[in-house]
Amino acid sequence: MQIVLINPPNCGRSIPEEEFGITSLKMIFRGEPLALEVLAGNLPGHAVRIVDLKADPEGLDALLAEGPDPDLIGFTAVTCEANTVIKLAEKIKGAYARPPVIVVGGHHASSDPGYFHRPFIDYVVVGLGKLSFRLLVDALAEGGVPADIPGVLRVLPGGPLAPIQRKYAFEDLVDDQAPRYDLVQAHRDKYVMSGVGGKVGFVATAFGCTHCCSFCSIPAMTGGRYLSHSVEAIIRDIGLLTDIPLIRFVDANTFGDPEVAERLAEAILRLGVRKKIVADVRADTVVANPALMRLWHAAGLAAVVIGFEEIDDARLARMNKRSSLDKNLAALHILAEIGIRVIGDFIISPDYDHADFERLARFIDSSPIALPIPSILTPIPGTPLYRQLAGELTITDLDYYTFSNAVLPTKLAKKDFYTLYSDLMKHLHQHLTKS
Ligand code: SF4
Repeated sequence: MQIVLINPPNCGRSIPEEEFGITSLKMIFRGEPLALEVLAGNLPGHAVRIVDLKADPEGLDALLAEGPDPDLIGFTAVTCEANTVIKLAEKIKGAYARPPVIVVGGHHASSDPGYFHRPFIDYVVVGLGKLSFRLLVDALAEGGVPADIPGVLRVLPGGPLAPIQRKYAFEDLVDDQAPRYDLVQAHRDKYVMSGVGGKVGFVATAFGCTHCCSFCSIPAMTGGRYLSHSVEAIIRDIGLLTDIPLIRFVDANTFGDPEVAERLAEAILRLGVRKKIVADVRADTVVANPALMRLWHAAGLAAVVIGFEEIDDARLARMNKRSSLDKNLAALHILAEIGIRVIGDFIISPDYDHADFERLARFIDSSPIALPIPSILTPIPGTPLYRQLAGELTITDLDYYTFSNAVLPTKLAKKDFYTLYSDLMKHLHQHLTKS
């Protein structure tokens, strides 16, 4: 089959920009479409292209103008991209005399599959799709009507498209098939990590999470399981990113299985893999495993991303973060001592007032966090937070679900809230240039 996988363009909208002329808060995503490269890796025997509309905004026009016509087009989408994908699907269906089958997967499809019950979409893939998408493609190539493929929902007019329960296992990772990094080689210079420096390559070492922070959609992608790739597969993938000095492990929780993490670090050291590595880690994992962090520093771990989220225990408990301010401070201390830089994620609640913004700025100023990244609390459909707050949403247009808009009522007047948020970002930028 002729298969095209499409990464949607940067398309999220910004309230601070549209309503108050504050242009500095628009969310721009950079980085390669690893999810599509991973899917492509399990499609040997088919002709596969990736169109990355973030790196190449004119890529769709080029696709429509040039042959060969695709048999199937697959989209990935996070929540703020869902509406754009629906519009692109409509455009594509109307552009070909023999319209391709349209499939949507990724985060939003997994957490809210019913949203894609639209006339121009044929299938929705829920959760880890590397194996199920392959089964769907093979069934279509054989001319059949795919049925009973775990995680694959057929969009039928008038039919239901409800969230489904499915089980996930190591087999879903199709560990022996490497991502098709070659399919985005033309854009490699555009894949950079701001604030850390230079060209970056993405590698997945694991999927899912066994924690259940209320705002997070990751655990649902694997039914709450944590599935690690084999050490051999991870080393293979790093090796494919030749000439890329910086590797970003894009798993949301890289050290979720400390035993696998230890074996991976040892393999990197033994094989002399010389790359700078950035990975996510929980603060409590750092505190419980300082020796592991030291080993990883030796293996190239230059920076970690930690979701501190909040700076008081009551708010952390409300998010079901299962951590504490003391643990966050202890983790910062350990990492500073080892020499690992910290990129800190913080979540600004819409109920923040002047004092809360000031307190957060003071906390960051006094901490060794190299790159603080505050975003706005956003209930993503499918998460526990969404179930809790759906009735309070003031904005339901998913274009605004970029983590830089308040979609819940703010305690402060909206303009004051966004002005303080923008001031905080400017202040943190100074923090960054000083550190
Ligand atoms: S925020 Fe991190 S620790 Fe919490 S559920 Fe998501 S991936 Fe897991």
